Amino acid sequence: MQIEHYGGLLSVKVVNGEIIATQLLPPIDPEVWMPFKRKDLFKISVDSEGKTEVNCLQGSGGPHKIEIMKGNSSNQFSVQCKQPEKHSKSKNREEKFASWIRDEVGIPPEHGVQGYQMELLKIKYLSIQQYESSCSFTCLQPINSLSNVPIQPGLFKGTYGGHGVEVIQLTYEGNRLHGTKVSGDPNVPAGKRSIIVHLDEPLVLNREQQRDLNSIKQLQNEGCSLPEGQEAPARQPFSIPFGIEDRGFVQLCEQKDIPTDFCRARYFGTGLIAMHGFRNSSRTDCHLVIFDEDVFAFLWMELGSLSVYSRADDFL
Ligand SMILES: [Zn+2]
Repeated sequence: MQIEHYGGLLSVKVVNGEIIATQLLPPIDPEVWMPFKRKDLFKISVDSEGKTEVNCLQGSGGPHKIEIMKGNSSNQFSVQCKQPEKHSKSKNREEKFASWIRDEVGIPPEHGVQGYQMELLKIKYLSIQQYESSCSFTCLQPINSLSNVPIQPGLFKGTYGGHGVEVIQLTYEGNRLHGTKVSGDPNVPAGKRSIIVHLDEPLVLNREQQRDLNSIKQLQNEGCSLPEGQEAPARQPFSIPFGIEDRGFVQLCEQKDIPTDFCRARYFGTGLIAMHGFRNSSRTDCHLVIFDEDVFAFLWMELGSLSVYSRADDFL
């Protein structure tokens, strides 16, 4: 979804002879193991006389007219709702905002939404509202499985701190693994490359080397990559360095029944950070840590936090 900064994910499929387009919204933070929340946006059907009908499914006012237009290229289209007033029937603005916040963070706004987070939520709400009646869409790159890769490509739900859970797409290009944002935020918007992993720089760390941030940063200078030609072991120690903020790692491992103290592989990489509005963007040193085919973590050394990612296999 081409929503400024925030992006978004739309699933289009055929159900009982109709084409249904459903928006897939990330679960609340940090529950990356949970399925997407689903919101039907529009459908295309054929009536008994063979005439095509296109209906907007947003809001409580019932199905109503929507127009679908071809985009500039064959993998793009846009929609324009003809009766957006049907979207917010019987709800005043405050109620609508409060129920949106409940969906977004899992709790009513009066229960502990912090000042800074509330600011982010307000900005997001006002921005995405502008796309309720008209939005453009671009088809994602197809996901094909590959051989000899540390983790299969695909969509993942990941934790992005105050911005909540966002969706990234993992793709391979030469000896780089890229994680591109499908949904984003005003700091690092959708479409940007959140993660770049150097597959030619595998790492094996003992417990002492990952005791705290300083010991890991020290490695950076000394070089801790495996000597040329040496294979990384199939299992290696992993610890959350002291002082690192865990953005859902322990909870995810509990949910997925994954041991927290060993990982399958570790690589050097960089993560994209920026100020609000994508100002002063820079790539900072990070580690990608793979636990199994569906779970990896990303250690942001500059931010002092550990994000977790869980494969999104419920996007169809
Ligand atoms: Zn509509």
